[in-house]
Amino acid sequence: MATRTEHKFPPIEGVRWFNVCVLVGTPLIALYGLLFVPFDRRTIMFAVAYYLFSMIGFHRLWSHRSYNACFPLQVFLILGGISSVQGSCYWWARGHRSHHRWTDTDKDPYDSTRGLAWTHIGWILFKSQLRRGVVDSSDLSKDPLVQWTHHHYFPLTALFGYVLPALIPALWNDALGGFCFSAALRLTVAHHCTFAINSIAHYLGSTPYDDALSPRDHFLSAILTMGEGYHNFHHQFPMDYRNAILWYQWDPTKWFIASCKFLGLASNLRVFPSNEIAKGALTMKLKNLKKVQESLVWPPEIEDLPIVSWESFQEESKRRPLILVSGFIHDVSEFLDQHPGGAAYLTKNFGIDVTGSFHGGVYRHSNAAHNLMSMMRVGVLVGGGCPPSQSIPPSQALFVAARHADKDISIK
Ligand SMILES: [Zn+2]
Ligand SMILES: [Zn+2]
Repeated sequence: MATRTEHKFPPIEGVRWFNVCVLVGTPLIALYGLLFVPFDRRTIMFAVAYYLFSMIGFHRLWSHRSYNACFPLQVFLILGGISSVQGSCYWWARGHRSHHRWTDTDKDPYDSTRGLAWTHIGWILFKSQLRRGVVDSSDLSKDPLVQWTHHHYFPLTALFGYVLPALIPALWNDALGGFCFSAALRLTVAHHCTFAINSIAHYLGSTPYDDALSPRDHFLSAILTMGEGYHNFHHQFPMDYRNAILWYQWDPTKWFIASCKFLGLASNLRVFPSNEIAKGALTMKLKNLKKVQESLVWPPEIEDLPIVSWESFQEESKRRPLILVSGFIHDVSEFLDQHPGGAAYLTKNFGIDVTGSFHGGVYRHSNAAHNLMSMMRVGVLVGGGCPPSQSIPPSQALFVAARHADKDISIK
């Protein structure tokens, strides 16, 4: 499989001219407005409100069925989605399901391995040999509202995308401002903010729940997309009506759905079991901790140390500064001058078991002292066992170990 860094824009087999006209013509109208049409405060406020209407979109209700909406709310949402001029709900929701089912493969319509340009806008503007993967969309095929709006998509999207946003400001004699700002500028921003979910939300940010695939969580993508930017969470738990679960994360779409539930307009808001969400988060934290763990130098493994008799320990201690703690023999030659208790305490204990003194008899040494001491291990005394609390350095008490990493656990 291609990696995220290869940036393979696929061979182009043609241009989708209708999409090019929409995605080039609309920003040009917006630019004309910004340069030559005076701002009317009412039009700008209406454009912002209409933008919010457009951005709630099809995603959580029709792509993921993450809640139930009453019919008037369905009509409101589907017209909002249509007003963003990004295809019919039927087309969009099926494509998005392919994206989830086939993430980061050739069957993903916005396959992140093909780079930011392709995932942001290339797949919309150009034809290629790529075909999106098959998904189950039988529920969408049977949904009369989805089907009706699909069959009347072009007049509907022209009406709600361009005509209505110009006609409403005509009420205060600003049809031109409405066309340039409420329609064209709103659409330009809405297009690129939505496209950002396919591009930067698979490129920028963290992977707090799983790093096997490209989706990432980032505040910037969340700001741009009314909260859809916690994309790592979303790809892990797509049927959850939330994209963000922490109180400080920006997810106004979630707040909108929860408000609709409060008003009796939405029901059956689905959430993934919090126990399983916590497992995902813990797995990634342990994975990151394991990386840190592997970057550190640890004491020699007990199996790699020579097993030494008491007599040999005594003999060797006459030639080297060796002390015994917790069943391990330590060579303290490089530590004599650094011992906070003074070198004299060490020199008078060569060849002696100071386990009791080390663990509180004379002084209860810190975790840091225990960790450092374990690095000086040079042997294990025969029969010198000790309780784990004394023989395992505190830094290794919660050692992160991969289970079954290389083992075949299939049942034969
Ligand atoms: Zn995605
Ligand atoms: Zn989704």
